[in-house]
Amino acid sequence: MALRKTKIVATLGPSSSEEGILERMIDAGVDVVRLNFSHGTAADHIARAELVRDICRRSGKPVGILCDLQGPKIRIGKFENDRILLKVGDPFILDAACKLGNQQRVGLDYKTLPSEVVPGAVLLLDDGRIVMHVDDVQNAEIFCTVTAGGMLSNNKGINRQGGGLSATALTLKDREDIRTAVALEADYIAVSFPRSGADIEIARQLVVDAGGHAAIVAKIERAEAIDALEEIIDASDVIMVARGDLGVEVGDAAVPGLQKRMIRMARLRNKLVITATQMLESMISNPIPTRAEVSDVANAVLDGTDAVMLSAETAAGHYPLESIQAMHRVCIEAEKEYDSQHLQQQINDEFGFIDEAIAMAAIHAAEHLNVKAIAALTKSGSSVTWLSRSNTNVPIYALTTERNTRRKLTLYRGVYPYHIEQPNDDLGHILYDAEETLLRLGAVQRDDLMMLTFGEPIGKAGGTNTLQIVKVGEHRREHR
Ligand code: PGA
Ligand code: MN
Repeated sequence: MALRKTKIVATLGPSSSEEGILERMIDAGVDVVRLNFSHGTAADHIARAELVRDICRRSGKPVGILCDLQGPKIRIGKFENDRILLKVGDPFILDAACKLGNQQRVGLDYKTLPSEVVPGAVLLLDDGRIVMHVDDVQNAEIFCTVTAGGMLSNNKGINRQGGGLSATALTLKDREDIRTAVALEADYIAVSFPRSGADIEIARQLVVDAGGHAAIVAKIERAEAIDALEEIIDASDVIMVARGDLGVEVGDAAVPGLQKRMIRMARLRNKLVITATQMLESMISNPIPTRAEVSDVANAVLDGTDAVMLSAETAAGHYPLESIQAMHRVCIEAEKEYDSQHLQQQINDEFGFIDEAIAMAAIHAAEHLNVKAIAALTKSGSSVTWLSRSNTNVPIYALTTERNTRRKLTLYRGVYPYHIEQPNDDLGHILYDAEETLLRLGAVQRDDLMMLTFGEPIGKAGGTNTLQIVKVGEHRREHR
């Protein structure tokens, strides 16, 4: 299979929880699975995680697990008959005290909403499919007029146009779910609707307290998060361009520009970025994507995203496997047009770390010397973070003894994590094994130039301090 740089995140759900289909999806190119804690029980997520780990043990391919917390999504309650039809001009009441909804009113799971909206506010329900203008607020009741109508069913979400609702980013359910995520050894945990760097810090502390090692993903999906983008990026390991909710809060037209800005900012700050939501939406019910969807995926690749994400396409759609195949081929093709321009951007930067300096030197040398591949011997993956932020076209093989590092690196653009044995500290032996590993993978051939980055003494996290360029097969015969 052709080497793809951009990674594919696939959400699991009813369409993708059977062993057979999951195995084929992973084989077709899934790098990271997303367990969506807005749906299903803890037991469902644990069972899916175990299935993924089983498949990986058999195939030897590492797959990361991303647990996506529900967050404070504000929802309406249920209706007597599960749904109602709203027409433009209908009066409707959002009533925090209502138990079971009807044609006139419905309940709210977020009881303080009435004190946080004023007449003139615009409320968007069900991802903006239904729109209501607020006419008046009295105690628990928000009196509205429908300005975009349609079918409204149980538990749909509510956003306020322009954002600004004070709901805390980590609900009691999220705190419980963090413990489940740690128990199933999540590699990534995503925080929904964060407003600030502090929200991310709280999540990180909860993960540490639960004994986990997961990296933290900040989903950028609130208007306020755009204003606090720098501090949120700095506090997190990864950001997600969460186009669904973001589009509702800031307006759909603002999203493409924000996507480009967020991807650029994340990379420059040495963080990762996932582009998410509706990427191949029509594939929920069709075996092929639309031209517009193909362009959307390709443009995210050209923007420099680390990963593209599938939501309902793989969780609940009819064509989960075809969706992976489509993403795979679109990414590979788009990558051919990608021009990495990192050196112009970063040539005058000061380096903060030794491994960062080695990584930058490695990329510069690799691109000017026709180096076929970089073998990065790594423990924590930190040198690989620097290497991959440059977005070079030279493939980066991350060789590590650490299982958790391998799983985490599944999300990094242009990085291919592999296991390497390290039975002793004989550096010559270890470097020989690294060369053999790349030969075996077909990443290099005899007489190609390849590059190695490593730390001496070997095996210290963040200790990369050495760069070596070798002609494959020329040295190290004594280690055979
Ligand atoms: P969700 O988040 O799928 O959990 O809503 C992503 C988004 O809002 O785009
Ligand atoms: Mn969302």
